[in-house]
Amino acid sequence: MVVPVHSDAFAEKLLSWFGANRRAMPWRETKDPYMIWLSEVMLQQTQVDTVIPYYQRFIEVFPDPESLSKAPEDDVLKLWEGLGYYRRCHHFIAAVRDVCADYGGRIPDDPHIFRRLPGVGDYTTAAVMSIAYGHVLPVVDGNVIRVITRIYRIADDTTKTKTRMLIRDMMAALIPSDSPGDFNQAVMELGALVCTPKKPLCGECPLNDLCRAFQHRDISLYPFSPKKMKIPQYPVGLALIMKDGRFLIQKRPSKGHLAGLWELPGGKAEGDESAETAMLRKCREELGLTVEVCGMAAQASHVYSHFKIHVSVFSCTVGAQREKDLKHQPFMWITPSDIPSYAFPAVNLKLFQTIFPSVM
Ligand code: SF4
Repeated sequence: MVVPVHSDAFAEKLLSWFGANRRAMPWRETKDPYMIWLSEVMLQQTQVDTVIPYYQRFIEVFPDPESLSKAPEDDVLKLWEGLGYYRRCHHFIAAVRDVCADYGGRIPDDPHIFRRLPGVGDYTTAAVMSIAYGHVLPVVDGNVIRVITRIYRIADDTTKTKTRMLIRDMMAALIPSDSPGDFNQAVMELGALVCTPKKPLCGECPLNDLCRAFQHRDISLYPFSPKKMKIPQYPVGLALIMKDGRFLIQKRPSKGHLAGLWELPGGKAEGDESAETAMLRKCREELGLTVEVCGMAAQASHVYSHFKIHVSVFSCTVGAQREKDLKHQPFMWITPSDIPSYAFPAVNLKLFQTIFPSVM
């Protein structure tokens, strides 16, 4: 292990910089562990500017664990709509329900208990426990990895658990016991504002006299990770089945990708299938419905963390089978003006903007 040097100087310089440069964020105005936890969940894979309005709307409707634990899941998903990564929302609801059932609605002030809640990992535990309760636990996220590997010239593969554990140990040697929450936030803030992936602002960095990569002029070598694999792209076919001014939507299963959201029927192509064939198959398998294609209604692309999709929406009419034959998944016939009442994945909303421009 590379032993951190100047740990007092490191923390002192960093905290003084953070005091003068920290961005205003609503969750930084509170010590309420529920709100800090919510912000950490929303911030996973998501930019601060995107999260702020979602966070504010969420705490307005669900200001405490009890109000959230009693809410129907559809209402919570509607507030989350567009923020993506819906699995974290399902986990958060489940974890808050556990907190209400087992701990009287008080977020446990014990990292081991908190870590056992659904969806809570090492990062969330360290962030919430240090910021809300002052536990001396270091965080490790992408910003921390970048800052620490540059300052200590760590050239190991940062996708490996061993390297992340080394970085966590180094952070543990640096974190001051009297302000662990501010220290964690300060390292992440430095990574977000100064020690950025491209063109870091080393001239303005409070740690440049401690930074080994800056002194060796080889910053671009850190952090090291093997070249990323190209992510696959899948064709997706969806059906716009109109009847008497209404169209059909179905509810996704309660587990897995985009769980519990509503969507146009259809799905991902398998093997050599075209988007149209996939849509026809999915309508049969999931709704027991035969449809006939009249034309193309809209197309859009969307990028998820591990794959991309190219979606084609086909205008359809119901074929030989009648509506009473619909089966398998919950479904609804809705009008375009009903769209805001249901939670849809972002790509469906993008498609609705093309198909129903007057209501979106
Ligand atoms: S000196 Fe440059 S590379 Fe080093 S921590 Fe500061 S911004 Fe990052």
